Amino acid sequence: MLPKLTRYTRPESLEEALKLLREPGSAPLAGGTQFLAAANPDIEQVVDLQALDWRRIEVAPGWLRLGSLATLAELAQAEALSGPAGGLLRQAARRAGPNTFRNAATLGGLVGARLPVSELLAALLALGAELELAGEAPETVALDAYLDEPRGLIAAVRLPWPQAGAGGAHAIGRTPADTPIVHVTAWAGADGTRLAAGGVGARVARLARAEQALAQGVEAAVSAAAALEPPGDFRGSAEYRRAMLGVLLRRVLRDCGVKD
Ligand SMILES: Cc1cc2nc3c(=O)[nH]c(=O)nc-3n(C[C@H](O)[C@H](O)[C@H](O)COP(=O)(O)OP(=O)(O)OC[C@H]3O[C@@H](n4cnc5c(N)ncnc54)[C@H](O)[C@@H]3O)c2cc1C
Repeated sequence: MLPKLTRYTRPESLEEALKLLREPGSAPLAGGTQFLAAANPDIEQVVDLQALDWRRIEVAPGWLRLGSLATLAELAQAEALSGPAGGLLRQAARRAGPNTFRNAATLGGLVGARLPVSELLAALLALGAELELAGEAPETVALDAYLDEPRGLIAAVRLPWPQAGAGGAHAIGRTPADTPIVHVTAWAGADGTRLAAGGVGARVARLARAEQALAQGVEAAVSAAAALEPPGDFRGSAEYRRAMLGVLLRRVLRDCGVKD
């Protein structure tokens, strides 16, 4: 799947990793599940991040910090992910692919892969996640901004914590285990209701217009979401996705206790 690959490196320090990643044709390697599944003709060197200390899941005052090398299986079981917000994250991690995949795939790799259908990305967006990017000038960027313009090496995903509120996540797929055709996640917290969906565009995204329309009620939010122009493919047509988006929006808002 990487026809030009000639070098595998496993740096012991961040400095070494950054140096190797500056070499042309280099890419970070985490769990490797996307590299196995998708062809990439440009990569000549993979820089394995596994020796870096980026696996911890920890709660600090005001924050939950998820190391980018934490696997999806670890997230699905993490006791630190408590309360309704933690439940939303654990459920999304558990629903991502088969368990053999979850044992290898990491959170950083999932963000780096930026699949247009990802319930975990939707949950992270709904909960206001930020990314800690490592580098000569470390910075923190909103997940939303990173999905538009990916750059740098993700050291951790951070969320405001604890979060009081209620959430809901629903998906429609050809079978329960298949990649969803459309999915929607909602989080109603102290600073309002955030909605995020996958399967309705090039990337998992906030439903900004539906969030604004929510002030006029659930049906106004559903009408606003109907203006989206989802892609159509072998899993479902654009019309089907648009119709199911409305169905799922009503369900997640009901779960959050948002009334018309
Ligand atoms: C069977 C199967 C089922 C799947 N199901 C789902 C699903 O339900 N939901 C979903 O969202 N995705 C799913 N995926 C795709 C999935 O998002 C990726 O395969 C996986 O999450 C990548 O994690 P990884 O640790 O294996 O990353 P890798 O394959 O190692 O890397 C993935 C990408 O991210 C980059 N990267 C890795 N780590 C970092 C980092 N720390 N900073 C910056 N960039 C980095 C890599 O260079 C690469 O471009 C599925 C894939 C498979 C094969």
